[in-house]
Amino acid sequence: MGKMRKPLIAGNWKMNGSIGLAADLLQAMQPGVEESSVEVVICPPFSLLQSMGECFRETSVSLGAQNVHPQISGAYTGETSAAMLNEMEVKWCIVGHSERRAQFAETDALVRQKVGTLLQHGIQPIVCVGESLEEREAGKHESVVVEQLKNGLSGLAADDQLRCTIAYEPVWAIGTGKTATSQQANSMHLTIRRELAELATEQVASEIRILYGGSVNAANAAELLEQSEIDGALVGGASLKTDQFPGIIAASNV
Ligand code: PEP
Repeated sequence: MGKMRKPLIAGNWKMNGSIGLAADLLQAMQPGVEESSVEVVICPPFSLLQSMGECFRETSVSLGAQNVHPQISGAYTGETSAAMLNEMEVKWCIVGHSERRAQFAETDALVRQKVGTLLQHGIQPIVCVGESLEEREAGKHESVVVEQLKNGLSGLAADDQLRCTIAYEPVWAIGTGKTATSQQANSMHLTIRRELAELATEQVASEIRILYGGSVNAANAAELLEQSEIDGALVGGASLKTDQFPGIIAASNV
């Protein structure tokens, strides 16, 4: 399978950042970001979505959210709906991040509900999957990831599956400074693609983008991104650094 897929670099700011950082990062990404053939998305906390939407309006950088509630409206104190994300021109949303799975009891079933709601609202889900260190050491990493993938996308029509992006993020590589080797990552991406060919169609398997996430930085990005099945990166810590994030975009612009 050739790399016909457009690279996507998404920054996950988690509970960090400020409007000042958004402006600095945008400046650090110029002029390359406008000319590059890479799609760039930043997912700040909810409180920054409105102002960052304005800051990014005339640029090629898109806005993503880090979470959504599966319902449209109602008595869900502290939550944000997909319709509200639409109003803020949010085009992407992360679902099933390992931090949400571990700290906020986000199950595969909830991930699937959120994916459905996002697609109904024209927001592209970035569906995160990944195994823990214990699961990898027990040789269960492929079955764990395949299960998360199946449950997260179950019952979706092929054209809806194509609007999803998958992010493979081994939990042991997130925020630890320890990346999967490019071979470990590429091999899991291949497993995901093969599973998608069974679960969905050959077209979905060859066209869907699969990002790698886990301690990606400007120094290690090129080696990961040149792998045949890696179509971009979901970047945590380094997406908050003006001397790192532009380098990751440049590394995928090949
Ligand atoms: C993430 O949180 O999605 C992530 C990959 O974090 P980091 O790049 O900091 O490991």
